[in-house]
Amino acid sequence: MYKKILVATDLITLKDNKVLAKALELKKLYHAELHIIHVVERIYAYGTPPFPQNVVEWQNEFVSIAEQKLKKLGHEMDILPDHRHAPLGNPKELIIEKANDINADLIIIGSHSRKGLSYLLLGSTADGVAQASNRDVLVVRVTTG
Ligand code: AMP
Repeated sequence: MYKKILVATDLITLKDNKVLAKALELKKLYHAELHIIHVVERIYAYGTPPFPQNVVEWQNEFVSIAEQKLKKLGHEMDILPDHRHAPLGNPKELIIEKANDINADLIIIGSHSRKGLSYLLLGSTADGVAQASNRDVLVVRVTTG
């Protein structure tokens, strides 16, 4: 019986997404509170801060695009605004951190993203989260390519 679920999405393939479908299925099955997270990865900028203004602007633009996509998904999946998260940083670290912050009892993640290599058993985000989190992690098999 899971009461609070965090689903991690790469926001790449949203149509017929098996990871999101599984999250919805378990939300309904357990009457659980569902949270969704997309971590916006930092643009790597060479050198030391301050970085050129356009790097900062792009970064902020990516966060706002992610928030818009999460808003749309949130409506479709009935996820409250406070339960949609688009932090900036390292995906593995921030998925684990968010699961701890909200005290999720289950993390749902895809085995691969589109950028992932399908010949690997798990992509690096899924592998990192499954290994480092002390919470239950459900890895949904995603076939790429
Ligand atoms: P990967 O390990 O990068 O191939 O991705 C595997 C899974 O990790 C994806 O199907 C998503 O569930 C999750 N994931 C990958 N990148 C992100 C991200 N930036 N934010 C949240 N979840 C992600």
